Amino acid sequence: MPVFEPVIGLEIHSQLKTATKMFCSCPITPGAEPNTHICEVCTGQPGALPRLNARAVELAVRAGLALGAQVSEISVFARKNYFYPDLPNGFQNSQLDPPICRGGGLDLPDYGRHIRLNRIHLEDDAGKCLHDEQRGQTLVDLNRAGAPLIEIVTEPDFRSAGEVMDFLKKLHAILVQLEVTAGRLEEGEFRCDVNVSLRPRGAEALGRRSEIKNLNSFRHVGQAIEYEIVRQGGLLERGEKIEQETRLFDPARQETRTLRGKEEAHDYRYFPQPDLPPVLVPPALLARIKAEMPPLPEAVMAELLSLGLTAEQATLLLERRGALEYFKAALTFLDDPKRLATLMVELLLPAAQKENIPPLDCACGPEVLAALARLLAEEALGRRAAYDLFPELFARGGDPEALARDRGVFQISETGALEALARELIAAHPEEARRYREGQDKLLSFFVGRLMRQSRGAANPKLAGEILARLLKT
Ligand SMILES: [Zn+2]
Repeated sequence: MPVFEPVIGLEIHSQLKTATKMFCSCPITPGAEPNTHICEVCTGQPGALPRLNARAVELAVRAGLALGAQVSEISVFARKNYFYPDLPNGFQNSQLDPPICRGGGLDLPDYGRHIRLNRIHLEDDAGKCLHDEQRGQTLVDLNRAGAPLIEIVTEPDFRSAGEVMDFLKKLHAILVQLEVTAGRLEEGEFRCDVNVSLRPRGAEALGRRSEIKNLNSFRHVGQAIEYEIVRQGGLLERGEKIEQETRLFDPARQETRTLRGKEEAHDYRYFPQPDLPPVLVPPALLARIKAEMPPLPEAVMAELLSLGLTAEQATLLLERRGALEYFKAALTFLDDPKRLATLMVELLLPAAQKENIPPLDCACGPEVLAALARLLAEEALGRRAAYDLFPELFARGGDPEALARDRGVFQISETGALEALARELIAAHPEEARRYREGQDKLLSFFVGRLMRQSRGAANPKLAGEILARLLKT
């Protein structure tokens, strides 16, 4: 029985899905050549004035509404002052009081817990420092400087790493589904700082905490928390003090280590940002944002299930990036959700993942998959033949019907052709035919199997069974 109880809170930074930066019209393009998307505003030139991106405000409000937060009709920007080479202004534009949203929360039914949010606020991102160890240089790339972020701050309501990971996955799914963020973890578009402290079980007061910075993988969050709980527990059991400090997680060593102690902690000296007017969200704007909200993941899940998809299929379509868009596009070509979902889950999504191609960019687009599904539905193709054609369609796209004709794999559903095959077969196996007539019904599958083999899988098995049963009786 552990004596100490972990208390965990999160600060999540999520990059908003806007075309341009928070305060200028520079585009946001991850992977671009360094310092190609910069201007006088996002590089902090004297006299350059910021202009707030209205879309960023709408997306922050959208996040607040989805999380049950109170949206502020008036919120303000503040300067958060610190010095770092990738921060050209010498301050970050952030919101102290009031932020754009307050309160809200998310249920974790698996853990019987409700996680309260403290606030959501707008801020802009810094650039990136690239350390060139070989040359002993540090280079600064300001393409990301001024990118729009929301910071979501939770109350310290978590008690385990599992709860935190569950929460982050849920939150990520909501923000991605609502198109608040593209949410690419590897691009740092969804990253978090974790505050961990321990206190004696049953105590009210919080222990001294450490903050683990900048985690952008759910797994690393879990590992960092587990490590901190053990590390702090060991210190407390030996009667040592926990230092309030900022730590970094090293995935290679699976441990956290000190980045800076309390003495080096930043004093941000927040003060009002005189260059930015208050952010207004009047009732009419709030109503419009509400009306334009895409459905939440739970609603989408319910809709997919109502179309007849299995829970596994629906979950995969929701979780795999771009899968839902592909599915919806395919539905416009063929109204057969179950068959389309099956083909996506069994063929398209695994192939796309293997090749690392977003589903909608595959040569086998929604119209191609829909055409393949239609051939299956019409029983023009057997399942086996359809699955054999798929790699070719995935590699080059094209018309499944033409390809099937080319390969000669159309299912034989023509009664005359099947009858001829069936008669041949019965004549070749008189002994089995006699036993079938005497009542050994199971022998029908023997004949169907032979007929399928003889037609190299092209016969329609259902029809073949019917014809064989009829001919064997006569
Ligand atoms: Zn700019």
